[in-house]
Amino acid sequence: MDLSESPKEQAFRQELRAWLKANHPGPEPEDFDAWVDYGRRWQRRLYDAGWCGLAWPKEYGGRGASLVEQLIFEEEMARARAPMLINLAGLTMAGPILIAHGTEEQRRRYLQPILSAEEIWCQGFSEPQAGSDLAALRTQAIRDGDTFVIGGQKVWTSFARYADWCMLLARTDTTVPKHKGITFFLVNMHSPGVTVRPLKQMNGDDDFNEVFFDDVRVPAANIVGGWNEGWSIAVSTLLYERTILTFARQLQSRSALRDALLLARQWQLAGVLVARDPIVRQRLAHAWIESEAMKYLSYRYLTQLLRGGRPGPQSSLEKLFWSEMYQRLLDGAVAMLGPYGQLAKGELRSPLAGRLQHLLLYSRGRTIAAGTSEIQRNTLAERVLGLPRGV
Ligand SMILES: Cc1cc2nc3c(=O)[nH]c(=O)nc-3n(C[C@H](O)[C@H](O)[C@H](O)COP(=O)(O)OP(=O)(O)OC[C@H]3O[C@@H](n4cnc5c(N)ncnc54)[C@H](O)[C@@H]3O)c2cc1C
Repeated sequence: MDLSESPKEQAFRQELRAWLKANHPGPEPEDFDAWVDYGRRWQRRLYDAGWCGLAWPKEYGGRGASLVEQLIFEEEMARARAPMLINLAGLTMAGPILIAHGTEEQRRRYLQPILSAEEIWCQGFSEPQAGSDLAALRTQAIRDGDTFVIGGQKVWTSFARYADWCMLLARTDTTVPKHKGITFFLVNMHSPGVTVRPLKQMNGDDDFNEVFFDDVRVPAANIVGGWNEGWSIAVSTLLYERTILTFARQLQSRSALRDALLLARQWQLAGVLVARDPIVRQRLAHAWIESEAMKYLSYRYLTQLLRGGRPGPQSSLEKLFWSEMYQRLLDGAVAMLGPYGQLAKGELRSPLAGRLQHLLLYSRGRTIAAGTSEIQRNTLAERVLGLPRGV
């Protein structure tokens, strides 16, 4: 990858950096509901200033920016420690999917409110018996004239509690092989028959949910990509999830590493600076090496995309390496705090307000979400290395 920037890209970076400096919304609220409101306002402000949906076509409210400008955006957001965009599922999955596979009417209806965060989206794929084996999903959609009637349950649906719309996969044909009988629907979360139950996570947040659909009526016009064509749409959704998102997340892990380094230079245990401990030094050095390796892995993959390639199974490599190195990094960072590492977010004496511990607990989910590590290894073995299928 050519890492030098064109004058246009440099100007883009400078303009964004100055804007973020002047418009950073300040510290994020501790309370999750308050954080969601804050996130909506923050995304709206970015949208009004033209910083949302950078790569989306201008006719749908985007900026028609290049992939490099998108990456500069992610880098500058991380540099400014700006809060993440709240409508992540809308921006990284629903939007790109509608641009690629939606009808013109769907694009006109849904894209702009995704950018402005007026309508928040969630991803209704996983079910209690269908996670890694997603095609085994059992939520059914039965045709009744111009509508479909949906019945079933989803689980681990991030942000469903706040979502206005859901990208839902449902079975529409039970007589064909399982991958071939699935349809991709846009479901209004305020429809009668939708029930959302939050799930408490080990870090105290409750952004996960169970979602129940009891005879929820969805117009046939809300199908994306055609009846029984949902599987290929689902696969491209997951590929989007594993590319730009992984790039953004490896930047977040670099911020966590910077925090850990800063703390190591200040934090003392039994009167000794932790940065003098040889084990701590080794772990931090190791984390830095992995972080650099991750950066160049991302650049290599992005170079392929810039040369016209499409997201493919190799994105499993970045997702796998990043999610595992992130856990190692945070494990090391929290361990170096000794007993103080056990203090949760918000505790009076917890270093960095408990941020590292909170991230460590959340990072456990990173090796599960968007495909577990075992599934990524299977994908790499079979689809990149060409090994025979496992038993
Ligand atoms: C932070 C987070 C956010 C999420 N957000 C969403 C969301 O918004 N929407 C959504 O739909 N889902 C979401 N999920 C769910 C996620 O996609 C699933 O948890 C994931 O696909 C794994 O499915 P499962 O939990 O059912 O585990 P299972 O598939 O039951 O797997 C259990 C274990 O068996 C292993 N395993 C399974 N099959 C194989 C195999 N063939 N070979 C080897 N090992 C195997 C797995 O690796 C795992 O260790 C989220 C999950 C997390 C952690």
